[in-house]
Amino acid sequence: MYILNEKEYIRNILVSNQKPAELSMGYLITLIAKYYFNNATDADSLSELVKKKLSDFEIENYQEYTYHKRIISICQGLFSENIDYRLKEREFVPIYIDEINLINMLPDDRQKKVMFTLFAVARYMECGGWINKKDSKGLSEIFKLANVTLTCAKRNELLHELYKNGYISFGKKIDNLNIQIELKASGETSYKIHEFKNIGNQYIANFKKGFKQCKKCGRVIKITGTNKQYCNSCSKAASAINNIKRIKKCRENKI
Ligand SMILES: [Zn+2]
Repeated sequence: MYILNEKEYIRNILVSNQKPAELSMGYLITLIAKYYFNNATDADSLSELVKKKLSDFEIENYQEYTYHKRIISICQGLFSENIDYRLKEREFVPIYIDEINLINMLPDDRQKKVMFTLFAVARYMECGGWINKKDSKGLSEIFKLANVTLTCAKRNELLHELYKNGYISFGKKIDNLNIQIELKASGETSYKIHEFKNIGNQYIANFKKGFKQCKKCGRVIKITGTNKQYCNSCSKAASAINNIKRIKKCRENKI
């Protein structure tokens, strides 16, 4: 999960006391600990604070002892500076013109979408161009962001193709989980990623002629003369809702 403005995100969550389903417990604990880092004098007092905040949340089957070790290690990590205590407060992640030029040279849309996403994620990570994933689930998250649906074998094929042609490199162990790309943060900013969703579609809609994104769901749609804003399924859903409203209004008028 990639959150551009962590400060705003966790502030809203702390107000509502609701954990979004897509947010993992580990990330939630980290965000709360960072948010209150300045209020605590040491790791122990911070972990007490985090536990107290967590108990206010309505988390199904939450039992403090299950997370005790995790909370302590995150709080200690913050005080020992192994974990950066700052919350991200970014408005966007930039993609530079040199990067776009490189992406545009790739042979097909799939490779372009994946490469664009890799630039976005690597820049988000701020880790010297490295994208380190623990398991294949982390890698499928990248492909999902890139709007590229492929089997595991085909995903590896695509990455191997990028590797063979020098666009990406791997860690010592070549298992596709540690990918490094060369960020080219020079020249002009060509595109600003404001939302870490449908990143592959954002590329197509902005850099491939004749396409744009559905305003509602982010799917790619062909630009036609009719200036439509939504994809077929979103416009169908919208007209169905309008129909219901119309019928309701009709009935009310009759009464
Ligand atoms: Zn749509």
